[in-house]
Amino acid sequence: MVMKMKIVLLGAPGTGKGTMAFSMSRALSLPHISTGDLFRSHIAEETDLGQKAKQYLASGRLVPDEITIGMVKERLAEADCRAGFLLDGFPRTVPQAVALNEVLKLEGEELDLVLNLQVPEELIFRRITNRLVCSACGKPYNKLDFPPTEDGVCDICGGPVIQRQDDTAETLRTRLDTYYELTDPLVAYYQEQGILLNHDNSSKHTPDQVESLITKVKEQINLKRRSSAAAISRE
Ligand code: AMP
Repeated sequence: MVMKMKIVLLGAPGTGKGTMAFSMSRALSLPHISTGDLFRSHIAEETDLGQKAKQYLASGRLVPDEITIGMVKERLAEADCRAGFLLDGFPRTVPQAVALNEVLKLEGEELDLVLNLQVPEELIFRRITNRLVCSACGKPYNKLDFPPTEDGVCDICGGPVIQRQDDTAETLRTRLDTYYELTDPLVAYYQEQGILLNHDNSSKHTPDQVESLITKVKEQINLKRRSSAAAISRE
């Protein structure tokens, strides 16, 4: 039976949230919701939201909370999210985290787990400046560690493999500074809620490593559910 899980992937840019979410969403049959991807689609389709978000993505700053929260609420209301989701890149501020809790509470739900990916900064620079992605299916690549077999062509869908415009050393500095100022406080926020799982994501992950992390994620979620159920039965 598929386990219903609501998971957030937290971590600075380049800690591997997208790559991890890509593997985990397939293994767990959960929709992968990347706010960065949602913004990039809006920009490509030249929607009003895309016009508003464009300048923020280009400079590496965060899109204002009211725009971002509205977009995520709409996405979470779609049918495929009823069985759970993997959020990648949201929340990135405390007001976004509070809004997410409120949206879930309205449905009598709560987050199950926040997976916090940790990588040293020098490795982040190396990863981001060599990062590539398939613009059709979202499969992540890296020029040094796992390039596509054929230059510029996705191994999975044959789509074009490109470098993101904001993956430059200069924009990355702004994105990291923004992360430390606005997103890093979420580590303590979720730690206090007892749903944070830290994971050192420095090494290139193999299918076995992803599988063992998924087992750990499931164990932690089951443990939390059992202790919540026990607390309710004691009331
Ligand atoms: P990402 O693909 O997650 O690296 O995000 C790319 C860019 O999209 C970020 O640098 C921000 O400009 C914007 N963005 C993504 N997620 C959020 C968010 N939760 N809040 C505000 N801006 C975001």
